[in-house]
Amino acid sequence: MVSRIIPVEPFDLVIFGGTGDLARRKILPGLFRRFVAGQMPPEARVIGAARSAHDDAEYRQIVRDAIAEFMPGAEVDAGRLDAFLERLRYIAVDARGAEGWADLAGTIRDDVVQAFYFSVAPSLFGDLAEKLHKHEIASPDARIVVEKPFGRDLDSARALNDTLAQHFDETQIYRIDHYLGKETVQNLMAVRFGNVLFEPLWNSQYVDHIQITVAETVGVAGRGAYYDRAGAMRDMVQNHLMQLLCLTAMEPPSRFNPDAVRDEKLKVIRALDPVPPADIVRGQYAAEGNQPSYRTDAENPDSTTESFIAMKLHVSNWRWAGTPFYLRTGKRLRARASEIAVVFKDAPHSIFGEDKNRHRNILTIRLQPNEGMDLFVTIKEPGPGGMRLVDVPLDMTFAEALGPEAQEVPDAYERLVMDVIRGNQTLFMRGDEVQAAWAWTDPLVEAWEEAGDRPHPYEPGTTGPEEAQMLMHREGRRWREIRAA
Ligand code: NAD
Repeated sequence: MVSRIIPVEPFDLVIFGGTGDLARRKILPGLFRRFVAGQMPPEARVIGAARSAHDDAEYRQIVRDAIAEFMPGAEVDAGRLDAFLERLRYIAVDARGAEGWADLAGTIRDDVVQAFYFSVAPSLFGDLAEKLHKHEIASPDARIVVEKPFGRDLDSARALNDTLAQHFDETQIYRIDHYLGKETVQNLMAVRFGNVLFEPLWNSQYVDHIQITVAETVGVAGRGAYYDRAGAMRDMVQNHLMQLLCLTAMEPPSRFNPDAVRDEKLKVIRALDPVPPADIVRGQYAAEGNQPSYRTDAENPDSTTESFIAMKLHVSNWRWAGTPFYLRTGKRLRARASEIAVVFKDAPHSIFGEDKNRHRNILTIRLQPNEGMDLFVTIKEPGPGGMRLVDVPLDMTFAEALGPEAQEVPDAYERLVMDVIRGNQTLFMRGDEVQAAWAWTDPLVEAWEEAGDRPHPYEPGTTGPEEAQMLMHREGRRWREIRAA
């Protein structure tokens, strides 16, 4: 009932950094899944381009190994895998030197969709854009895909936008935020704008508050040097949580097209109030047993970078005046769990008398684990014991209603790469959105840096520092539990 695979146009997809972690972990396994699903037409090709020297056969082996490693347990049909690997080429290219560019220019076809995925360090984005232009490789409607981080503050993001804009039009630039590729995130828009049920209630008159949580169990070991210069605010809030907030808070766009949607998201970012320091809690995970502390992982014994942040935001517009948005994200927390929870207000009057446990409608949108939605409604507890109320979830996980194929939805990366080939920018961040998010972020970071603020230590495996609980408790609210399932 669900699957309607529409093959995309023939394409040449060049993955700069095609031997790197992201390419091996996400992009190439994702492409293989799309190939198996029948979405890649026979003429489509994928060209790995990176600094190390390999021939096609060696690169195919690298990709074969990556698929075995990062698709564990998946039933990989050997014939299909061989057919997919046949589509791969490899060209050694140096973003900063002359090597490989003539070869790449001779390989890329002009009569297919061209996409160039910049899966390399952001410091190379400008070099790649310039080289593609100089060697006349990219056709006028070629697409480039850039990964996060997109700058580390407003100035650097603006400089990056300006560099890319020298060689590519905004309609050609796809800034990836893989959270936007998640099935449930798009379902949030479908549920909000495809039903009359929710939209009339989606405002400060009926919504008490909104919580957005992205919790991880991993620490920063292995990427401590990068992370310590970023912290949770720059690494997660400015991009992923901000995007989730925008989709939750935005006005209905006039139509589901890229600029209509992104215009509405931009308005949300611009409507964000500055956040006073009292509404921000920063934390840093401590050591536990033989597990190192944040500072050890970051190899910076004096680090004041946050591995956890919780904050209360206000979107200053008619719809949301008076309804706070609580954001929370951190490393080494109790479970890997991400969700948006829309917590509705209490019924104005209880006809059932004094009820000690407050009952509330809550709509939760789970990004992980088990992508799906739940709508908690209050019903009568079954049995003869009088009118006792209980909250139960109406499971909107869709799989049962839509059949087993609904469970085989593409993961975020594979969906987004296919959107690039289709030329659909709806789920990608526009340059002005990214800059607006930094313009809001920068003063908050500057304020705590200037004040010499030090993050609160927290025990790994918990929900973060106690102060984050207080952020809610002091207003009679509570965070939802962080649970793996
Ligand atoms: P990586 O270090 O594993 O790989 C980097 C790749 O770039 C390699 O293929 C390398 O050969 C290539 N490269 C390096 N210098 C080059 C040069 N001068 N010319 C051409 N190629 C060169 O990095 P990664 O983890 O794959 O990350 C790639 C990008 O994706 C980064 O911007 C990173 O921030 C972003 N990202 C990664 C992840 C992830 O899970 N790994 C997640 C989100 C974003």
